[in-house]
Amino acid sequence: MALRCPRLFHFRYVDKLKEPEVMPETRLGKAIHKALELVLQGTPIPEATAKVRAELPNEIEQLRFDTLGTGIEPFTTRIAAFRRRRRIARQLVEYSLAVREDLSVTQFYSGDAYFRGVIDLGYIFSDDSIALVDHKTGARIPGTSITDQLEGYAVLAAAAFRHVRQFWLGIHWVAERAVEWSAPVKPEMVVDELVPDLLDNIEAAALAVDDGPRPNPGTYCDRCSYRELCPASREHRYEPVEYYEDDDD
Ligand code: SF4
Repeated sequence: MALRCPRLFHFRYVDKLKEPEVMPETRLGKAIHKALELVLQGTPIPEATAKVRAELPNEIEQLRFDTLGTGIEPFTTRIAAFRRRRRIARQLVEYSLAVREDLSVTQFYSGDAYFRGVIDLGYIFSDDSIALVDHKTGARIPGTSITDQLEGYAVLAAAAFRHVRQFWLGIHWVAERAVEWSAPVKPEMVVDELVPDLLDNIEAAALAVDDGPRPNPGTYCDRCSYRELCPASREHRYEPVEYYEDDDD
């Protein structure tokens, strides 16, 4: 967030302003995450989806939830088949992890937490490998690297589960009903590449925040809960439209 829009980071984490509005996209994403979490923890799909759906504020969002939610059943069927094939030692659902600056593990809300994250779904297998999955409800962006997106989770998991010898990183594209996997990542790659990349990103983010609350508008402004307060967003959203006289009218 700090790298993408320092203004948004300031609103949320420096000024600690209450969000003036929650955008429908954000609410929908949270609802699908919640439904998946309940289902993966054993709640039957109709019960989980009905509970989450009822909390959405209007029919349009409920209908969008219904459409996106049709991806839950095929995903859980796949996971069940996968669980039958592999020996799973542990399932992690919405699992919070945090590390200190020296990458030792600490409590999620501890004052010495330097980097933290919540893993949507993970499986630790009895062959000492781990699969980490992140649910995404937005559109799939072709050409982006899965490893880049999930490098932080791999670093956290490597610190917390030191016996793991292989990391599988996957993105569950809910709307497309697809799970995209990275090539397997070895612990050496986590240490030699992912940790330095992550620390560089944190450093760059800290510099961006230090530079002041500079807005950086983009298409993601549509999901920003603070856009009412942000002049840059208004300029970005309401581009002037020119109307031409049509002689035939
Ligand atoms: S509306 Fe856009 S530019 Fe403004 S704070 Fe939000 S993300 Fe940043």
